[in-house]
Amino acid sequence: ASSLAQWIARRGTVTPESVALVAAETGERITYADLEQRVARRAAALRGLGVRKGDRVALLGLNSTGYLETLFAVAWLGAITLPINFRLAAAEVEYLLEDARPVVVVHDDTFAALAKVASGARTLVNNSELVQEDRVELEPTGPDEVAVLMYTSGTTGRPKGAMLTHGNLEANAINVLTSGEGLLPSDITLTVAPLFHIGGLALFTLPLLYAGGTVVVAGKFDPQETLALIQREKVTVHFMVPAMWAAMTQVPDFDSYDLTRLRYLLCGGAPCPLPVIEFYEGKGLTFVEGFGMTELSPAALVLESAFVRSHAGSVGRPFLHVEARIVDERDDDVPTGTVGELVLRGPNVFAGYWGLPEASAETMRGGWFHSGDLARCDADGFVTLVDRKKDMIISGGENVYPIEVEQVLHRHPGIADVAVIGAPDPQWGETVVAVVVPADDSLDGDAVIAYCRERIAAFKCPRRVEVVAELPRNATGKLLKRELRARYTDSAA
Ligand code: ATP
Ligand code: MG
Repeated sequence: ASSLAQWIARRGTVTPESVALVAAETGERITYADLEQRVARRAAALRGLGVRKGDRVALLGLNSTGYLETLFAVAWLGAITLPINFRLAAAEVEYLLEDARPVVVVHDDTFAALAKVASGARTLVNNSELVQEDRVELEPTGPDEVAVLMYTSGTTGRPKGAMLTHGNLEANAINVLTSGEGLLPSDITLTVAPLFHIGGLALFTLPLLYAGGTVVVAGKFDPQETLALIQREKVTVHFMVPAMWAAMTQVPDFDSYDLTRLRYLLCGGAPCPLPVIEFYEGKGLTFVEGFGMTELSPAALVLESAFVRSHAGSVGRPFLHVEARIVDERDDDVPTGTVGELVLRGPNVFAGYWGLPEASAETMRGGWFHSGDLARCDADGFVTLVDRKKDMIISGGENVYPIEVEQVLHRHPGIADVAVIGAPDPQWGETVVAVVVPADDSLDGDAVIAYCRERIAAFKCPRRVEVVAELPRNATGKLLKRELRARYTDSAA
């Protein structure tokens, strides 16, 4: 077992000339030997600001090579990186800083103002100033020490700080290297998903640096630019969240880009609409879906390409060092094919929520991490995700899983986007409501209901269709159903 900083230190010796990082905007290439130097010098600058082992260092910035250098420099000192979601409002950033109490807030030029407003009396430093001539010694750090304090996306409530240890992140790296389509030192990835979320950071960025491959870092996501970068940098493996994959299907001259180097695409973090998967498969690309969570560092389940057709709709089987079970309310295994809660175990499971011992204990019952996601498992061990426990609708005593209904509505040509929620109903307990963004002006609510009637059981069909211009989503593009529920609760018929 080794710490994040040791990965870079070792790589600087073993594969010094290989390219570790490429800055997409400038084309600058940083070898592992360079990276090791830069990290040791940045660590010296941080030490000069008073950063000691176990301290938190907040990081607020667009994806950049400097972002990753600072993250490794923090680990070099045995300190903890607190990545901050820059899409949050100043008050929300303030909440995270109050919660995690970093000794220093590092920001880039783009977020200087936000950092200033949110930081109060804390020490602020521009990331570009974290350079020093001298190096500092690497602080010995064990696998059970926290490397990153990564807040969850906040889909179901206030974000919680997941304590990810060096051992967790190494386990994730080994899992990603050895399961699914794996990773090779010859691989090149593009990191355009935000580094402040675990997907951008640990799929494939950290595992590929562990393996000695090349990570191209892009500051901003633009669908067309991303395609151009994949072509220019000969990218071989690429991770994004469903909303980004969906946006890229809309690029008009998609077919003019040369994507032949791509070994596979990975999508995860939220349910992916089936038409999006079909789009990429139709282009002859290998589209792999994975299931992950911040608390799992994040990789948990993956569907290998060999099974993409035979087990369509499944998120596959556990990574090498992950175990999964489906359990009922009493934590007993449910029979094969029955829906229950997905629970997981393995060296990638986090060390608990920062400052929340009760929530941590509640989620880690019997040594198994309780995901809060409902799923079922077939006889071969392939898991199909059903929905979040909190989003399940109970209508007239029947369980309705909104994602199933959404997948049907995503195929309706008049619907651009959709969320299905439950609204309180005096007769049925809850009633199914579809909140839709129309693709054009002609969408008719009754016709939408009739469309569902032909395809799924009547109790699953929406009773009401609400038309909106846009759906509330968080930074990763996840639907904020709690906001929708709040909005449509009083207006329930
Ligand atoms: P919070 O815990 O703060 O409410 P969150 O759960 O959205 O936020 P993350 O850790 O980023 O924060 O996301 C994990 C969740 O994302 C999983 O529990 C699951 O519900 C969903 N998810 C991840 N991968 C997939 C996938 N392939 N298909 C469907 N849902 C997925
Ligand atoms: Mg969660």
